[in-house]
Amino acid sequence: MSTIVPPDRSLFTDEPHRRRNALTGEWVLVSPHRMRRPWQGQVEARPTELRPTYDPTCYLCPGNERAGGQRNPAYTGTFVFDNDFAALHTVPLDDAPTPDGDDLLVARAESGICRVICFSPRHDLSLPELSTSEIRRVVDVWTDEYLTLGARDDIAHVQIFENKGQVMGSSNPHPHGQIWAQSSIPREPALETGRQREHHQRHGRTLLADYLALELQRAERVVVANDGFVALVAYWAVLPFETLVVSRRAVPHLGELTDAERDQLADIVKRLTTRYDNLFEISMPYSAGVHQAPTDGAAHPEWHLHMHFYPPLLRSATVRKFLVGYEMLGEPQRDLTPEAAAERLRALPETLARPTSA
Ligand SMILES: [Zn+2]
Ligand SMILES: [Zn+2]
Repeated sequence: MSTIVPPDRSLFTDEPHRRRNALTGEWVLVSPHRMRRPWQGQVEARPTELRPTYDPTCYLCPGNERAGGQRNPAYTGTFVFDNDFAALHTVPLDDAPTPDGDDLLVARAESGICRVICFSPRHDLSLPELSTSEIRRVVDVWTDEYLTLGARDDIAHVQIFENKGQVMGSSNPHPHGQIWAQSSIPREPALETGRQREHHQRHGRTLLADYLALELQRAERVVVANDGFVALVAYWAVLPFETLVVSRRAVPHLGELTDAERDQLADIVKRLTTRYDNLFEISMPYSAGVHQAPTDGAAHPEWHLHMHFYPPLLRSATVRKFLVGYEMLGEPQRDLTPEAAAERLRALPETLARPTSA
């Protein structure tokens, strides 16, 4: 990939068009000309930023009692525990009642485990405010949890994610993520498994390896990269500043990363989330997560490790993107092009500009 192809600005730069998500097969409508319309919609309250380093009422802070009555240890790094309000719990699937009846009323028993990961004992910090070595410890926990939970016979998929910020419905500002491990493969990774398998069978390479080669050639949607990972605004991104973090090496899961690559993942997470915070000069809310091979016992040579970051904000700290109307009834739609979004994110500094309590 030595030749740099100039950005493809010949097609669809200003005209409405649809793009297909190569990972899911789903389409998004892009309407760049609408960027000029004035905004008269809902404005979110600007979140207050400064928090104490320790909050005696926080159920995630070290030494505090949780709602279930258990007490957190005086942890100093990361801390993982079973969610006291889990959406899933383990049920013996063989003995589980199979709902019968009509083809239109179909249900299946689902077994699973939900865990919570505290990224830091500090109540006031978020990922971009942690050091790269502290984020590396979070990457290590993600890896251990994926491998341990995924090794269980009753777990076919391990979803690691973070819901950050009140606007995303996060109930606690303490830096933490979640893991939902379950007996089935849920919708998004199931769609991605199908598309990746098809591509791998046809070409003998992973879909994301081929896609990443194209993106590196064109360079117009890349936000930040290091030796192990590339963060980019995908060609088919739905949210204005949504990004995809892809490993340069085609590995199916975190467990296959080298020691250096785990550091590089921590580095790319820090640099990307710092840019997010600098975009509107707030601690950027988002949902983010790791997508990796299902743990259903089958071989998954088609699977290529990646992360998704989905920030909901549109044009400032207080204007968010809603998926409503046409998007609920038709398909997702965006105004800002992925190329323009990448350009904005790329131009931002990699040191935090907003005030922090640290
Ligand atoms: Zn806390
Ligand atoms: Zn994915």
